[in-house]
Amino acid sequence: MQTRRAFIKTLLGLGAVMLPWSFLPNRLGESIKTKLGRPAVELLLPPAPEPELNQTIDLESLHRTAMDDIYVLTAPEMQGRRAGSIGETKASEYLASQLSMLGLRPMGDPNTGFLQAFTIPPVVETRINGRLTFKPGQNTRLRSPCVNLLGGLMGESTEEIILLTAHYDHLGVYEGRIYPGANDNASGVGCILDVLRRILREEKVPRRTIVVAFWSAEEMGFVGSQAFVHTSTFPLHQIHAVLNVDTVGNGMIGNFALWADGENIAVQAIQEAALECGASALLTPPAGHNSDSISFALAHIPAVTLMAKDWLYKNHTPEDTIALLKPEQISLASEMVYRAVHRLAF
Ligand SMILES: [Zn+2]
Repeated sequence: MQTRRAFIKTLLGLGAVMLPWSFLPNRLGESIKTKLGRPAVELLLPPAPEPELNQTIDLESLHRTAMDDIYVLTAPEMQGRRAGSIGETKASEYLASQLSMLGLRPMGDPNTGFLQAFTIPPVVETRINGRLTFKPGQNTRLRSPCVNLLGGLMGESTEEIILLTAHYDHLGVYEGRIYPGANDNASGVGCILDVLRRILREEKVPRRTIVVAFWSAEEMGFVGSQAFVHTSTFPLHQIHAVLNVDTVGNGMIGNFALWADGENIAVQAIQEAALECGASALLTPPAGHNSDSISFALAHIPAVTLMAKDWLYKNHTPEDTIALLKPEQISLASEMVYRAVHRLAF
């Protein structure tokens, strides 16, 4: 049994989770925050990270490969990494531990280390042309908590940032079947970690700062990357270019495609890298699809999404498993992103 006071306290606590204060008009949000005397989503806050930044890099982590990450992210206990699910939380724990072991600087919300908390609306599943997707659900005021992860490799300049991104969520479990999302988008996450580890192994300090971001809730309409653009953990004007990697592990080797809002420096860097690697990466009309680069394009920040040209094959089906992936294609995507980062950050 609870006392009345404890009950009211619990109610206020739930309010802090369910209401996205940051989306309220500023003045109203501030006055509610002041009255409650607590910050947004306080119940989500993990213990403050240890302030030590120049920790030694964990050697095991430094020598992991994209396929190692993909095996972890598609394991049965990850349950298809649906945004807001326990399986996705396990994936975020794995990714936060990798960012920490690689010695990156936490760049999430103040006092939450690598995590940036936000909330997602309710969704319902729908099948379109055999693909499972989400559409908006009822009761849109009842939102649930979710996290992006952000970590930085400091460059000579901390004022200019190259953002390397991939979404780590997928569709979860539907009608008793797990949607592992090996290609969409464990492959992109593995690719970004591959590039980061390679730069760290070379022990070169970049000219610009490289920030790695893993978005949640892409499958719910780019909600994680939009939340970042809406309430960024560092000023958006510092972002020089965004390289987003989504579903790069299948199809004919060297056959890639790009989504972007026309030509920009991010597109150019990837295309030059593709040319050097003997690969093809042509700008393609999104034709009703898209990825997290759109959130940055809408904010007039040069951004591009790299994907396998055949990305749609078995996409959003339970057959998007490790068996669909070609490690050689993922290595090639990593090589292209690595070379593009070299052009942009070094
Ligand atoms: Zn998807």
